[in-house]
Amino acid sequence: MTQETGGFAALGLHPAVLSAISAVGYEEPSPIQAQSIPVILGGHDMIGQAQTGTGKTAAFALPLLSRLDPSRREPQVLILAPTRELALQVATAFETYSKQMPGVGVVAVYGGAPMGPQLKALRQGAQILVATPGRLCDHLRRDEKMLSTVQHLVLDEADEMLKLGFMDDLEVIFQALPEERQTVLFSATLPHSIRAIAEKHLRNPQHVKIAAKTQTVARIEQAHLMVHADQKTAAVLRLLEVEEFDALIAFVRTKQATLDLASALEAKGYKAAALNGDIAQNQRERVIDSLKDGRLDIVVATDVAARGIDVPRITHVFNVDMPYDPESYVHRIGRTGRAGRDGRALLLVTPRERRMLQVIERVTGQKVAEVRLPNAQQVLDARIKKLTASLVPLVADAEETHGELLDRLISDIGCSPRALAAALLRKATHGQALNLAEVEREQPLVPSAAPRERSERSGERGEYRERRAPMPLAEGRARCRTSLGARDGIAAKNLLGAILNEGGLAREAIGRIQIRETFSLIELPEEGLDRLLGKLKDTRVAGKQLKLRRYRED
Ligand code: ADP
Ligand code: MG
Repeated sequence: MTQETGGFAALGLHPAVLSAISAVGYEEPSPIQAQSIPVILGGHDMIGQAQTGTGKTAAFALPLLSRLDPSRREPQVLILAPTRELALQVATAFETYSKQMPGVGVVAVYGGAPMGPQLKALRQGAQILVATPGRLCDHLRRDEKMLSTVQHLVLDEADEMLKLGFMDDLEVIFQALPEERQTVLFSATLPHSIRAIAEKHLRNPQHVKIAAKTQTVARIEQAHLMVHADQKTAAVLRLLEVEEFDALIAFVRTKQATLDLASALEAKGYKAAALNGDIAQNQRERVIDSLKDGRLDIVVATDVAARGIDVPRITHVFNVDMPYDPESYVHRIGRTGRAGRDGRALLLVTPRERRMLQVIERVTGQKVAEVRLPNAQQVLDARIKKLTASLVPLVADAEETHGELLDRLISDIGCSPRALAAALLRKATHGQALNLAEVEREQPLVPSAAPRERSERSGERGEYRERRAPMPLAEGRARCRTSLGARDGIAAKNLLGAILNEGGLAREAIGRIQIRETFSLIELPEEGLDRLLGKLKDTRVAGKQLKLRRYRED
């Protein structure tokens, strides 16, 4: 075990859990984890308050896994989550963290899928049950005893559950649970309704709150960019084209992410290296020295590994993964703007992390302006600017050293000076795209993330998001979305026609089309998707811009 897993090792978790988290590459517990784990391990009821993205799942999953009894093949832990997506995320996390615990099983129970297989999985003896309240109540109506062995209950994102109208379902579930149990409630906010639930159903709960202290940030220009999680690398590469940086440090959360991003950067010709807790101390010092003297320009680091880096050359900090709290944000961006120089900090924000952005703004008392990805024209301009800058110093005396050779080549080849200069440029730029059409082709637009679709109340019940969640995708297909829907007079055949005509696809390549009131979804081939979306950029349907983009539920 490396020294950095020490943070987790000191918490008293089960050894199998510890080795699983070291395998996923977590180096240190996040603040909510460090505070919650001992409380939950101690068997106390707890109310945990922290923003999205702060690591709450592991905060309850790790101690509960450490406490359960794998030899008893019946439900022991129940997690309630507001939506199917969140339930699946939690179930997947439990599976990851229990990889080294043979005999431990996880079942997810949610709406929009048949009940049969979920029931069957339950009967096979899973100890961990992750459920949405609505669907769990459906199961309870058939088998009111199904929760009688549960000893630990977690309400995850309790405020969201109430917003979705699950209050009554929660009461039914509380009635079906044994009185003798541990109850843990996590919520980003604690409105009166949540306090009332805690009052009624928790016993002497301990409060864990990740409070944000005011921080000061000086002389650092800050910006953020909205992006989907799987487009971060593409976004970073694009940003680097236009940002004028000297040295840059990019922060990510895991060891694996340091390696992945560093090698993507190296592949593009940047002098980049990874810095994480697995790298031996002397090697780490070498990396930092290289950054100081210019042998490296970019270091991709975890928070732990970057501790104490003081390199005046650093002009930029990229927060590729969100920090866990504003303090660590301030700490990260303090790597730039050293020695009184100006610095620039960029934060990538996925749709579900918007709230953390707001917290950072509040705590630092500064607005973190939104920037968009540079377009092809801007990328091209930046490339030409760099090329120009590299040529300017040569122009002064190159004629003296290479003028004669030039004359000879022109006569040997029998071409014009312009043709020769163009050939030399192509050679010197190693085939880099340097005209607009080519840059556009090389860099299809990475659509920046649209705001999370708010749950539209269905009226009868708060399960709208869950019920309307789209079906799983076929292999090789991606789901795309347009904000044109039935109210814009769109029918499936209009959409299909436009995409077949303008996109040049075969009918078989297009999957399901779903037309909703205010938007539509369509399944397209993953392969070549970015290029296709580029082609359809200006397509209009029913007189309105289609603006098709990748669709992801977070
Ligand atoms: P929340 O429930 O608070 O919104 P999650 O539990 O979904 O947050 O965690 C957000 C992300 O952070 C996940 O991708 C998770 O794998 C990662 N993560 C959680 N804890 C750690 C840690 N200690 N070190 C590195 N990454 C972590
Ligand atoms: Mg969560």
